[in-house]
Amino acid sequence: MLRVAVVGSGPSGVYTAQGLVQQSQVPEVRVDVLDRLPCPYGLVRYGVAPDHEKIKSLQNNLRAVLEDERVRFLGGVRIGPDGLPAARLRELYHAVVYCVGAATDRHLGVPGEELAGSWSATEFVSWYSAHPDSVADGFVLGARSAVVIGVGNVAVDVTRILARGTAELSPTDMPQAALTALAASEVTEISMVGRRGPSQARFTTKELRELGALPDTEVIVDPRELELDPEYNEPSGLPAANRRNVEVLRGWAATPPRGATRRIRLRFFLRPVELLADGGEGDGRRVGAVRFERTVPDGHGGVTGTGRYEDIDAQLVLRSVGYRGVPLDGLPFDAEHGTVPHLAGRVVRDGTIAPGEYVAGWIKRGPTGVIGTNRPCAKETVTSLLEDAGMLVRRELPEDPLVALRAAGLTPVEWAGWQAIERAEAELGASLGRGVVKLPDWTALLAAARTARS
Ligand code: NAP
Repeated sequence: MLRVAVVGSGPSGVYTAQGLVQQSQVPEVRVDVLDRLPCPYGLVRYGVAPDHEKIKSLQNNLRAVLEDERVRFLGGVRIGPDGLPAARLRELYHAVVYCVGAATDRHLGVPGEELAGSWSATEFVSWYSAHPDSVADGFVLGARSAVVIGVGNVAVDVTRILARGTAELSPTDMPQAALTALAASEVTEISMVGRRGPSQARFTTKELRELGALPDTEVIVDPRELELDPEYNEPSGLPAANRRNVEVLRGWAATPPRGATRRIRLRFFLRPVELLADGGEGDGRRVGAVRFERTVPDGHGGVTGTGRYEDIDAQLVLRSVGYRGVPLDGLPFDAEHGTVPHLAGRVVRDGTIAPGEYVAGWIKRGPTGVIGTNRPCAKETVTSLLEDAGMLVRRELPEDPLVALRAAGLTPVEWAGWQAIERAEAELGASLGRGVVKLPDWTALLAAARTARS
């Protein structure tokens, strides 16, 4: 029997588990999907915006895989020096596939980035997604205008959540504290700012269009700014996706402002150079504005500065400039790309393939693509692993890994524990007159898991 550990239960981890049990090359396979959180689904649970119910419903597909009798979910298991050392994990399984994603955010590297009121978009997303490691909650408190730096899909998500009203957020599974805070939000001006041109923005058209459909909110673009981009003026050579973005922006450029309560300003060719403080002292200094330098296209897809600056007022700044992978216990790391070096999913250490160690998802290819991109990515890794299986299964394994995990002092949250969390979230929602409402902290999650029926 081939016994595999998949580290991470987000889409890439679950698609890897699915690929392993759905193949016919190796007749008997058992897969343990480990996660440091007591809850499965990774970014589908803790990254996909709560108002994107359709994408969230992908959880049902992932659930079917984790409920397969050959697959076991083991939550609350941290791999590394402060949990189960990676070397021990390797002893317990024939193969380990790391599907841990990109755990942190990229930095801007400009002065003032650490001022109070300046957050990474991932911190904001974690808060409204009820991630148990989220510690902050004062995001919108006292803010009237917000700047979102970056024009990718995460930037669109956080912009949209800032602009949504309670009526639209209440039916989602957003935690109650975030819903209450957003309901009291006085943010009416949101600027989402790209350093390059509209034809180079990373958001997808479906997500972009959603901004234009928000109640009592209008999207404002300045046609003169858009026209700085030669490909906005002449989009015929662009890939279809970018051309569609340009068409949507053209539509907004041609629409006069309606005087809606909230305004989303899409800005381009502005690169952040400094976050400016507004009052406070020492660590308490708060952000009051972002200083941008006007850029112009350099003719090679990049931009150059012009030495002209513009300050945009903001008491809340969300830096949405991409995720970044972090080094993992016992694995090689490509610091430039934030990924683990690999060949078709096989980990490469000092130029040689490390037998029995694999990667899939963002830690393999970097933080790009949509959820579905993880399917072919996981498939490639599974194919490599199955090619190696004959050699891997020759090693005799000590015992059921669950016994070893418990002996190491770990108390994994098994599937029944997760189901108990789901029940607790349904009960919490019912008590609040809402649908399912997520439990936002470790204590509540683990307490709910302990009520699992055996
Ligand atoms: P992203 O798509 O890589 O976008 C990052 C943005 O940050 C780009 O606009 C980039 O501009 C900008 N940026 C990077 N460094 C910067 C700097 N120093 N100063 C100013 N701007 C800077 O990343 P993401 O939005 O975090 O999304 C990650 C992945 O998740 C993407 O593949 C995305 O499609 C996916 N996702 C999908 C959905 C969905 O399907 N609904 C939702 C969320 C996320 P440049 O282009 O100039 O580098």
